[in-house]
Amino acid sequence: MKLLEYEGKEIFERYGVPMLPRCGVVRIGDGADKLDIGGEGPWVVKAQVLAGGRGKAGGVKLAKTPAEARELARRMLGMKMVTHQTQGKALTVEEVLVEHATELDREIYLSVVLDRKAGCPAVIASAEGGMSIEELAHSHPEKIVRLQVDAESGLLDFQARQLAFDLRIPQKNFCEFTVLAQRLVKIFTEMDASLVEVNPLAISKDGRLLAIDSKIVTDDNALFRHKDLASGRDHESSEIEKEAKAIGINYIGLDGDIGCMVNGAGLAMATLDTVKMAGGDAANFLDVGGGATVDQITKAFQIILKDPKVKAVLVNIFGGIMKCDNIASGVVEASKKVHIKVPLIVRLEGTNVEQGKEILAKSGLKIEQADSLWEAARKAVAAAKR
Ligand code: GDP
Ligand code: MN
Repeated sequence: MKLLEYEGKEIFERYGVPMLPRCGVVRIGDGADKLDIGGEGPWVVKAQVLAGGRGKAGGVKLAKTPAEARELARRMLGMKMVTHQTQGKALTVEEVLVEHATELDREIYLSVVLDRKAGCPAVIASAEGGMSIEELAHSHPEKIVRLQVDAESGLLDFQARQLAFDLRIPQKNFCEFTVLAQRLVKIFTEMDASLVEVNPLAISKDGRLLAIDSKIVTDDNALFRHKDLASGRDHESSEIEKEAKAIGINYIGLDGDIGCMVNGAGLAMATLDTVKMAGGDAANFLDVGGGATVDQITKAFQIILKDPKVKAVLVNIFGGIMKCDNIASGVVEASKKVHIKVPLIVRLEGTNVEQGKEILAKSGLKIEQADSLWEAARKAVAAAKR
């Protein structure tokens, strides 16, 4: 689960990471007038989307007066943002964060990631952080510091001090920095994160060490340990994806028009590839799971057909634990319940496949059968184009 900047900063707050004081967060529809902007300026107004590179895309702006801050927030809400991290897609700004700003002297990069090869957390840092960290990693990889951390003991004192030296942290902020670095590692392990990133970690003109930005990605498999996160909003999933998740179906929406129902993640991936090879595009990735019961198949059809782009449905099920005849009965029963109006192409393989095919053929439903995945994919592509 990816957290928005302000949500990550709420976690930072709990762990005592130093930051700029927050004025507030406004949601689309709330109206920027509700923002309680007081005290002394300037202020920084920040679009809350799940992508970095907002600075260069007009999503981070400084304001000199409260009126200007409100006006900027108003303009950002509802704005479509494309940054170098959104893969060409536009993200809608639904929330805006306003903080007290300050002048920055230096911008440092500091993050904790999972080093999968070594099987432990690792700190990645650079004295030259800020908006061009990706370019720096390409042009000057030697300027990136890497450090492996023992997950049990956390970032040791000597490691934190070494890091502070490497990043040329000023004497005045030295101790504060080592504590901060240790706290970030603590957040990483305690939150079951796969990434905790601060870019920039800044030293302000008035000599304060400040986490200016936050990026936290947590592991969905550990959500049961973080009830507060689980009850929060899921910014990444579409409505259909959320519905599928709630009933235990593995579903990811895609851009094409062929709805796919498959059992097993590997077979689902192979199905997407084969559809592509046959000249079509899948509308979704869907894994009904091992026990493809009538109930589960019915639900899966309902989920697939919620997507108005779907012009044909391709069922590709391998009968291993569940026998093909049972699956065929399930498909017949489910398609009667759901009233599928688009062409339905079914490929079954595995135990009792002949009986399964007979059930489909005798069902009286308009089902196109295929003997191989390749044939099924070609039939589905042709059906979607009709
Ligand atoms: P990102 O571009 O999405 O990573 O957004 P950031 O929150 O990192 O902000 C981008 C840039 O805006 C930072 O690298 C800073 O240079 C600048 N910035 C953000 N907050 C402040 C602030 O309070 N004061 C100043 N002077 N600059 C800021
Ligand atoms: Mn940033």
